[in-house]
Amino acid sequence: MAVRKIKADKLFDGEKLLTGKIIVLDDEGTIVSIENDMQQDVACFQGILTPGFINCHCHLELSHLHGAIPKHTGLVHFLLAVLKLRNHEENMILDAIARQDALMYERGIVAVGDICNTTHTIARKKISKISYRNFVETMGFFPEIADARFTLAHTTLQAFEANEQHAAIVPHAPYSVSETLFRKINREAAGKIISIHNQETAEENKLFLGHPGGFENFYKQLGADISFFVAPFKNSLQAYLPLLANAKKILLVHNSFTSEEDVAFAETFAMEKNIALYWILCPNANLYIEHTLPDVEVFIKYKCKLAIGTDSLSSNDELDVLSELRTLKQHFPSISTERLLQMATCEGASALGFSGLGRIESGKKPGINLVDENLNLIKKIT
Ligand SMILES: [Zn+2]
Repeated sequence: MAVRKIKADKLFDGEKLLTGKIIVLDDEGTIVSIENDMQQDVACFQGILTPGFINCHCHLELSHLHGAIPKHTGLVHFLLAVLKLRNHEENMILDAIARQDALMYERGIVAVGDICNTTHTIARKKISKISYRNFVETMGFFPEIADARFTLAHTTLQAFEANEQHAAIVPHAPYSVSETLFRKINREAAGKIISIHNQETAEENKLFLGHPGGFENFYKQLGADISFFVAPFKNSLQAYLPLLANAKKILLVHNSFTSEEDVAFAETFAMEKNIALYWILCPNANLYIEHTLPDVEVFIKYKCKLAIGTDSLSSNDELDVLSELRTLKQHFPSISTERLLQMATCEGASALGFSGLGRIESGKKPGINLVDENLNLIKKIT
């Protein structure tokens, strides 16, 4: 077996930044061993070697909406625009999916947690070099349509499973899923990874606290009356999280308006129910839509599991995990490079359940990237 030895100024193994180490790889990119640097025939690079990156939240099927929706209009306007614009000619949708899947791979991304409302991405995923965890999204705020929506989600789920694509049915967001639909999802959630858009806008908490706000207007514009909804008079997360108690893992995505009390509540609840809870940060999308960011220091204070998502190209200029890290570094300079890289690698891999990815360890084939100190990609090594 031919082996290749590489080293750089630093090695980030998924957890720690190390110096004086070399990686021994076989010709398929599997790590044979990590050894001390006192050897011949080692290819040397300037920068930091890292495991391949994990994008925990994407909507690949919306890639054709790149640049279609104006920035900083708020989530309610954004959602109405997506509903209006998402249907395009199928060829255009499929071309954009293929292009962005290839681009993510070139940017050092090896695994993606992808939200799916359609089956458009299946063909590309079957030949992709990226590993996908598919989250088939369901929504419906009116309890009487829960059965129909859940049946529809099952049809999409079966299409993914028939093509050997791992998939699970997940709720869209607290403001778009009825308690009846939450209970149906939870009934099938045992052993599964559930993902949900959480507290992406202040309007979501207002709805759950019984304050007037943007979602009445949202539903009115869709021709619907939500006066039936009885507010639980607590922040959304505290109201709906108990409805997902059967899940093995829950990925809370965005968290821009999550309070410290919400974090404490969710972490305690998850511990009691033996749920692995991950907070997925999508800073570029938060700046794009709401021009805001989550209070990341609170999550660090509570030692939360943190990972990174790009969201879709309808709310981001690029699907690039490193770009998300650079945004976090710029706005939260106290967070170390080591901590940021953990979010983009080992914690992301663990959130999506890819045990062979996210760490540079013998026997794993995580993909290897070379980045500079400012978290720009120099090149993809394997
Ligand atoms: Zn999203």
